[in-house]
Amino acid sequence: MDAYLSPWTDVAAAFARSHGLAILPFGACEQHGPHLPLGTDTITAQAVAAALADRLDATLLPPINYGDTWNNAGYPGTLSLSSATVTAIAVDLGEALAASGAGGLVIVNGDWGNRNPLYTATRSLIASGFPTITLDYPGMDAAIAEVRTSRAAAPGLAHAEEVETSLMLELAPDAVLMERAVSCYPEFPSDFGTAPMQLHRFSPSGVFGDPADATAGKGRAILEATVTASLAVLEDFIGGILRERNGAPHRPHESENAG
Ligand SMILES: [Zn+2]
Repeated sequence: MDAYLSPWTDVAAAFARSHGLAILPFGACEQHGPHLPLGTDTITAQAVAAALADRLDATLLPPINYGDTWNNAGYPGTLSLSSATVTAIAVDLGEALAASGAGGLVIVNGDWGNRNPLYTATRSLIASGFPTITLDYPGMDAAIAEVRTSRAAAPGLAHAEEVETSLMLELAPDAVLMERAVSCYPEFPSDFGTAPMQLHRFSPSGVFGDPADATAGKGRAILEATVTASLAVLEDFIGGILRERNGAPHRPHESENAG
């Protein structure tokens, strides 16, 4: 169910039944070269979150369109939140969901810069007793390795190149301007990937790699593998919520006659 398009009464009923999960796509407003939209990360996270909501019969929440994108802040149009703001948004929404009777929260993170702040938020919500998990696209790296034909600009780096262009060709083809696509393989300093750094120093276009080999089919394969791996990761998380909601058989001393 898409919460944004549903009345509260339906969402309340969905939270009350089964695992009662809410799924939150957390994106970013971030440059993706001259040929992909600022919403690339949000669109991808939303697609994965929508597929999970569908497969799990969970409630899809409206996406967060902004994230911590400090490393891309040198490209105008990139609008970054601070780490503290990202953490606060996730914690506030988790607390609101708990108060609404949701069984738990799955955050689908679409942007690398959100990882640390969402980890902090997840830890805080778990500590307060609300089941929360953040998914950083499990299975995606393996799926990328299967389909990628171009060289990565740096190990693990996929930004506005073959991978992200393939994802957008599958999800939002009208927003992909292939005639503007350029290739860029920058020379990185030896501490790249270990120290915070802003990327505009290395690529004037904002592309890292080569988008030329992108296809919608590659994008579809990457998305399907990511959804499948996400479902596998969620299995125990959901099992724990269901056990808790159905009377926690792992605490047999708490019978109705106790106390
Ligand atoms: Zn991206």
